[in-house]
Amino acid sequence: MADSKFFDNLPTDLVVADNAAEQRLLREYGAVFLARGGVIAPNKVVFKDDDEVAAFQSRLDVGVSEIGGFDMELQAVAMADLLEASDEAAAGGSSVTPRGPDSARRNYHGTVDLWKSRIEPALIHWASKGRITPEQADFIRSLAPHEQVPEVFKLEEEGIYFAKDLSKSIIYSVAPPGASQHISMLAFDVAEFDNPRVRGILASHRWYQTVVSDLPHFTYLGVDQGELLDLGLKRVKHLERDFWIPDI
Ligand SMILES: [Zn+2]
Repeated sequence: MADSKFFDNLPTDLVVADNAAEQRLLREYGAVFLARGGVIAPNKVVFKDDDEVAAFQSRLDVGVSEIGGFDMELQAVAMADLLEASDEAAAGGSSVTPRGPDSARRNYHGTVDLWKSRIEPALIHWASKGRITPEQADFIRSLAPHEQVPEVFKLEEEGIYFAKDLSKSIIYSVAPPGASQHISMLAFDVAEFDNPRVRGILASHRWYQTVVSDLPHFTYLGVDQGELLDLGLKRVKHLERDFWIPDI
Protein backbone atom coordinates (compact mmCIF):
# COMPACT_ATOMS: atom_id res chain seq x y z
CA MET A 1 0.00 0.00 0.00
CA ALA A 2 2.58 2.51 1.15
CA ASP A 3 4.48 2.09 -2.13
CA SER A 4 1.62 3.51 -4.20
CA LYS A 5 2.30 6.43 -6.54
CA PHE A 6 -0.12 8.47 -4.48
CA PHE A 7 2.11 8.37 -1.42
CA ASP A 8 5.23 8.99 -3.54
CA ASN A 9 3.71 12.19 -4.90
CA LEU A 10 2.44 13.71 -1.64
CA PRO A 11 4.17 16.92 -0.53
CA THR A 12 7.08 16.09 1.76
CA ASP A 13 5.81 18.53 4.41
CA LEU A 14 2.30 17.00 4.64
CA VAL A 15 1.29 16.22 8.23
CA VAL A 16 -0.95 13.13 8.53
CA ALA A 17 -1.89 12.10 12.06
CA ASP A 18 -1.74 8.39 12.78
CA ASN A 19 -5.42 7.94 13.61
CA ALA A 20 -8.31 6.30 11.77
CA ALA A 21 -10.18 9.55 11.16
CA GLU A 22 -7.27 11.29 9.40
CA GLN A 23 -6.38 8.16 7.42
CA ARG A 24 -9.96 8.02 6.21
CA LEU A 25 -9.96 11.71 5.27
CA LEU A 26 -6.72 11.23 3.33
CA ARG A 27 -8.36 8.38 1.39
CA GLU A 28 -11.58 10.36 0.70
CA TYR A 29 -10.32 13.93 0.20
CA GLY A 30 -6.68 13.22 -0.65
CA ALA A 31 -6.57 14.26 -4.31
CA VAL A 32 -6.05 17.90 -3.31
CA PHE A 33 -2.68 17.07 -1.72
CA LEU A 34 -1.34 16.29 -5.20
CA ALA A 35 -2.26 19.72 -6.59
CA ARG A 36 0.61 21.32 -8.52
CA GLY A 37 1.21 23.52 -11.53
CA GLY A 38 1.93 26.71 -9.59
CA VAL A 39 -0.33 26.20 -6.56
CA ILE A 40 0.53 25.13 -3.01
CA ALA A 41 -1.13 21.99 -1.64
CA PRO A 42 -2.33 22.04 1.97
CA ASN A 43 0.29 20.83 4.45
CA LYS A 44 -2.17 19.27 6.91
CA VAL A 45 -4.95 16.73 6.51
CA VAL A 46 -6.76 18.45 9.38
CA PHE A 47 -6.05 22.05 10.43
CA LYS A 48 -6.63 22.38 14.18
CA ASP A 49 -7.68 26.01 14.58
CA ASP A 50 -7.98 29.46 13.01
CA ASP A 51 -4.27 30.17 13.52
CA GLU A 52 -3.15 27.09 11.60
CA VAL A 53 -5.47 27.91 8.70
CA ALA A 54 -4.43 31.57 8.68
CA ALA A 55 -0.74 30.60 8.69
CA PHE A 56 -1.23 28.33 5.67
CA GLN A 57 -3.42 30.78 3.75
CA SER A 58 -0.91 33.61 4.34
CA ARG A 59 1.63 31.68 2.22
CA LEU A 60 -0.66 31.62 -0.82
CA ASP A 61 -0.68 33.77 -3.92
CA VAL A 62 -4.38 34.71 -3.99
CA GLY A 63 -6.58 35.71 -6.93
CA VAL A 64 -9.78 37.64 -6.21
CA SER A 65 -12.65 37.96 -8.65
CA GLU A 66 -16.31 38.81 -8.57
CA ILE A 67 -18.19 35.88 -10.06
CA GLY A 68 -21.95 35.56 -10.16
CA GLY A 69 -22.34 38.49 -7.76
CA PHE A 70 -19.97 37.12 -5.10
CA ASP A 71 -16.36 38.04 -4.30
CA MET A 72 -14.45 34.79 -4.68
CA GLU A 73 -10.90 34.04 -3.52
CA LEU A 74 -8.81 31.15 -4.81
CA GLN A 75 -5.12 30.48 -5.31
CA ALA A 76 -4.16 32.72 -8.22
CA VAL A 77 -3.42 30.00 -10.80
CA ALA A 78 -6.61 28.17 -9.89
CA MET A 79 -8.59 31.40 -10.28
CA ALA A 80 -7.01 32.13 -13.67
CA ASP A 81 -7.97 28.68 -14.97
CA LEU A 82 -11.47 29.01 -13.51
CA LEU A 83 -11.99 32.33 -15.30
CA GLU A 84 -10.80 30.79 -18.57
CA ALA A 85 -13.27 27.95 -18.08
CA SER A 86 -15.95 30.53 -17.37
CA ASP A 87 -15.16 32.41 -20.60
CA GLU A 88 -15.30 29.18 -22.59
CA ALA A 89 -18.63 28.24 -21.04
CA ALA A 90 -20.03 31.72 -21.75
CA ALA A 91 -19.03 31.45 -25.42
CA GLY A 92 -21.32 28.40 -25.61
CA GLY A 93 -24.21 30.02 -23.77
CA SER A 94 -23.63 28.54 -20.30
CA SER A 95 -21.74 29.82 -17.28
CA VAL A 96 -19.59 28.81 -14.32
CA THR A 97 -20.77 30.54 -11.16
CA PRO A 98 -20.59 29.85 -7.41
CA ARG A 99 -23.48 28.24 -5.51
CA GLY A 100 -23.15 30.79 -2.71
CA PRO A 101 -20.89 33.17 -0.81
CA ASP A 102 -18.81 30.36 0.73
CA SER A 103 -18.18 28.48 -2.54
CA ALA A 104 -14.44 29.22 -2.67
CA ARG A 105 -12.28 30.26 0.31
CA ARG A 106 -13.28 29.15 3.81
CA ASN A 107 -11.58 29.82 7.13
CA TYR A 108 -11.48 27.43 10.07
CA HIS A 109 -14.60 28.61 11.86
CA GLY A 110 -16.55 28.50 8.59
CA THR A 111 -15.85 24.77 8.44
CA VAL A 112 -16.92 24.41 12.09
CA ASP A 113 -20.23 26.18 11.44
CA LEU A 114 -21.02 23.95 8.46
CA TRP A 115 -20.15 20.83 10.45
CA LYS A 116 -22.47 21.89 13.31
CA SER A 117 -25.27 22.58 10.81
CA ARG A 118 -25.28 18.85 9.95
CA ILE A 119 -24.58 17.36 13.41
CA GLU A 120 -27.49 18.83 15.36
CA PRO A 121 -30.34 17.83 12.97
CA ALA A 122 -28.87 14.33 12.66
CA LEU A 123 -28.62 13.91 16.45
CA ILE A 124 -32.25 15.00 16.83
CA HIS A 125 -33.35 12.63 14.05
CA TRP A 126 -31.51 9.52 15.26
CA ALA A 127 -32.51 10.11 18.90
CA SER A 128 -36.17 10.41 17.83
CA LYS A 129 -35.84 7.10 15.93
CA GLY A 130 -34.34 5.42 18.98
CA ARG A 131 -31.11 4.59 17.14
CA ILE A 132 -29.12 6.56 19.71
CA THR A 133 -30.04 7.43 23.28
CA PRO A 134 -30.61 11.03 24.41
CA GLU A 135 -27.49 10.56 26.57
CA GLN A 136 -25.40 9.59 23.54
CA ALA A 137 -26.68 12.64 21.67
CA ASP A 138 -25.84 14.91 24.61
CA PHE A 139 -22.40 13.36 24.93
CA ILE A 140 -21.62 14.18 21.29
CA ARG A 141 -23.01 17.71 21.74
CA SER A 142 -20.69 18.20 24.70
CA LEU A 143 -17.56 17.49 22.65
CA ALA A 144 -15.43 20.01 20.80
CA PRO A 145 -16.11 19.79 17.04
CA HIS A 146 -12.83 18.01 16.26
CA GLU A 147 -13.58 15.47 19.02
CA GLN A 148 -16.98 14.78 17.46
CA VAL A 149 -15.43 13.48 14.25
CA PRO A 150 -14.32 9.99 15.42
CA GLU A 151 -17.60 9.55 17.37
CA VAL A 152 -19.65 10.39 14.28
CA PHE A 153 -17.55 8.05 12.12
CA LYS A 154 -18.16 5.24 14.65
CA LEU A 155 -21.95 5.72 14.49
CA GLU A 156 -21.82 5.84 10.69
CA GLU A 157 -20.25 2.39 10.69
CA GLU A 158 -23.60 1.22 12.12
CA GLY A 159 -25.59 3.00 9.39
CA ILE A 160 -26.39 6.04 11.56
CA TYR A 161 -25.48 8.60 8.92
CA PHE A 162 -24.96 12.33 9.34
CA ALA A 163 -25.12 13.72 5.78
CA LYS A 164 -27.89 16.25 5.18
CA ASP A 165 -30.19 13.55 3.72
CA LEU A 166 -29.11 11.07 6.48
CA SER A 167 -28.47 8.37 3.85
CA LYS A 168 -24.68 8.58 3.58
CA SER A 169 -21.61 9.65 5.46
CA ILE A 170 -21.32 13.27 6.49
CA ILE A 171 -18.01 13.50 4.63
CA TYR A 172 -19.90 13.47 1.31
CA SER A 173 -21.97 16.41 2.54
CA VAL A 174 -19.66 18.63 4.59
CA ALA A 175 -16.05 18.24 5.65
CA PRO A 176 -15.05 17.77 9.27
CA PRO A 177 -13.76 20.93 10.97
CA GLY A 178 -10.41 21.95 9.51
CA ALA A 179 -10.48 19.28 6.79
CA SER A 180 -12.25 21.13 4.00
CA GLN A 181 -10.56 21.45 0.61
CA HIS A 182 -11.98 24.98 0.60
CA ILE A 183 -9.38 25.94 3.22
CA SER A 184 -6.70 25.25 0.62
CA MET A 185 -8.37 27.74 -1.76
CA LEU A 186 -8.29 25.01 -4.41
CA ALA A 187 -11.99 24.10 -4.27
CA PHE A 188 -15.04 25.71 -5.83
CA ASP A 189 -18.72 24.76 -5.55
CA VAL A 190 -20.28 25.24 -8.98
CA ALA A 191 -23.93 26.24 -9.42
CA GLU A 192 -24.04 24.64 -12.90
CA PHE A 193 -22.69 21.26 -11.70
CA ASP A 194 -25.53 19.37 -13.40
CA ASN A 195 -24.48 20.53 -16.86
CA PRO A 196 -22.18 17.91 -18.46
CA ARG A 197 -20.73 20.47 -20.86
CA VAL A 198 -19.72 22.69 -17.94
CA ARG A 199 -18.11 19.71 -16.18
CA GLY A 200 -16.14 18.91 -19.33
CA ILE A 201 -14.94 22.50 -19.68
CA LEU A 202 -13.85 22.57 -16.03
CA ALA A 203 -11.89 19.31 -16.44
CA SER A 204 -10.15 20.70 -19.54
CA HIS A 205 -9.03 23.63 -17.35
CA ARG A 206 -7.67 21.29 -14.65
CA TRP A 207 -10.69 21.50 -12.33
CA TYR A 208 -11.92 17.99 -11.38
CA GLN A 209 -14.43 16.25 -9.15
CA THR A 210 -12.49 14.57 -6.33
CA VAL A 211 -15.04 13.90 -3.57
CA VAL A 212 -17.38 11.09 -4.61
CA SER A 213 -21.03 12.14 -4.45
CA ASP A 214 -20.33 15.79 -3.47
CA LEU A 215 -21.71 16.81 -6.84
CA PRO A 216 -21.23 20.63 -6.91
CA HIS A 217 -17.67 20.42 -5.52
CA PHE A 218 -14.68 20.80 -7.88
CA THR A 219 -10.98 20.71 -7.02
CA TYR A 220 -8.11 22.39 -8.79
CA LEU A 221 -5.33 19.85 -9.40
CA GLY A 222 -3.26 21.89 -11.88
CA VAL A 223 -2.48 19.07 -14.32
CA ASP A 224 -4.11 17.73 -17.46
CA GLN A 225 -6.33 14.69 -17.22
CA GLY A 226 -3.73 12.42 -18.87
CA GLU A 227 -1.40 12.92 -15.90
CA LEU A 228 -3.84 12.04 -13.11
CA LEU A 229 -3.27 8.26 -13.19
CA ASP A 230 0.48 8.77 -13.00
CA LEU A 231 0.07 10.97 -9.94
CA GLY A 232 -1.58 8.07 -8.10
CA LEU A 233 -5.26 8.88 -8.58
CA LYS A 234 -7.92 6.53 -9.93
CA ARG A 235 -11.13 7.33 -11.76
CA VAL A 236 -14.41 6.33 -10.10
CA LYS A 237 -17.66 6.61 -12.05
CA HIS A 238 -20.68 7.75 -10.05
CA LEU A 239 -23.94 9.21 -11.40
CA GLU A 240 -22.33 9.51 -14.86
CA ARG A 241 -19.55 11.67 -13.49
CA ASP A 242 -15.83 11.01 -13.20
CA PHE A 243 -14.37 11.37 -9.74
CA TRP A 244 -10.60 11.25 -9.19
CA ILE A 245 -9.64 9.81 -5.82
CA PRO A 246 -6.44 8.44 -4.27
CA ASP A 247 -5.49 5.00 -5.62
CA ILE A 248 -4.69 3.51 -2.22
ZN1 LIG B 1 -17.18 22.22 -1.80
